[in-house]
Amino acid sequence: MRIVVPAGGIGGARFLRGLKAALGIDAPTTGNQSTDSPITVIGNTGDDITLFGLRICPDLDTVMYTLGGGINEEQGWGRADESFTVKEELVAYGMRPTWFGLGDRDTATHIVRAQMLAAGYPLSAVTEALCDRWKPGVRLLPMTDDQVETHVVVEDEEGRRAIHFQEWWIRHRAALPAEQIVSVGAESAKPAPGVLAAIAEADAVILPPSNPVVSVGSVLGVPGIRDALVDKTVVGVSPIIGGAPVRGMADACLAAIGVETSAAAVAEHLGSDLLDGWLVDEADTGIEVEGIEVRSRPLYMSDPAATEAIARAAVDLAVELSEGRA
Ligand code: GDP
Ligand code: CA
Repeated sequence: MRIVVPAGGIGGARFLRGLKAALGIDAPTTGNQSTDSPITVIGNTGDDITLFGLRICPDLDTVMYTLGGGINEEQGWGRADESFTVKEELVAYGMRPTWFGLGDRDTATHIVRAQMLAAGYPLSAVTEALCDRWKPGVRLLPMTDDQVETHVVVEDEEGRRAIHFQEWWIRHRAALPAEQIVSVGAESAKPAPGVLAAIAEADAVILPPSNPVVSVGSVLGVPGIRDALVDKTVVGVSPIIGGAPVRGMADACLAAIGVETSAAAVAEHLGSDLLDGWLVDEADTGIEVEGIEVRSRPLYMSDPAATEAIARAAVDLAVELSEGRA
């Protein structure tokens, strides 16, 4: 069974670990399993930012490190066993910004990426090269090789302006009210090589509990991707439980686009043309969304077994709904 997963960072990566377990995908010991894995991940690159001359791809790296065993488990991002000497040295030079934490081990990843991009390789080729080391056991594709950046329109004492999503999210902790969220460059972006083919060949698409606006929404915003997904059986896992995000600040993103923070409103926003099935938590049992098959079950990714069970439920629902279509 071939499955495509449009994913963001932490929530997406944790879910993918469960999906690998549910499909019995072991850590590859040799070779680069990226090309023959039954799972293709379409990674969000809307969070990407250039800092210190380095192209930073937080969601791609979080998926790669999490599935490849290099993630800082408590934090959910960045490398395990990390140190921050480079960051201290940059501060000593007065380099800005100081709010982004790039660790020493992580810096090596970014030097490899910077060097390959400077040599003319597209981001998809760079990602594949990095995955040669990490062997995430999935095929990890960026949503696009073109530059697409999520910017947030805010207004405060400094006036009305658009800032990069990372500045809003990390520096301001999404506390500055967002008036608008804009995917800069999306209109002219093309899906990365392999993305549309992977969707065409997929038996099912699963939307993990990733941020519905700035993660899944960014992937869907690349022209061609949403249209391709609509033809498939798509099952989503709600990132909203009982009217609140489980962790993080997804409610601030939903408010910015005028969508209520509820499992039902997020499903309606994603659309019944796209979503065939929607898993909600037991706290949301009884919600109905027209045109979408809603099922409730425990949705907290509290440990590997619970996460695997969520992933299995998503796969089972996709199989059931695609049999209904055939
Ligand atoms: P990303 O969007 O995948 O980059 O990751 P984030 O961690 O920023 O966002 C993940 C989204 O998933 C947030 O909106 C959370 O509300 C949600 N989430 C986080 N943990 C869980 C969980 O254990 N279960 C469910 N159902 N949703 C979760
Ligand atoms: Ca569909």
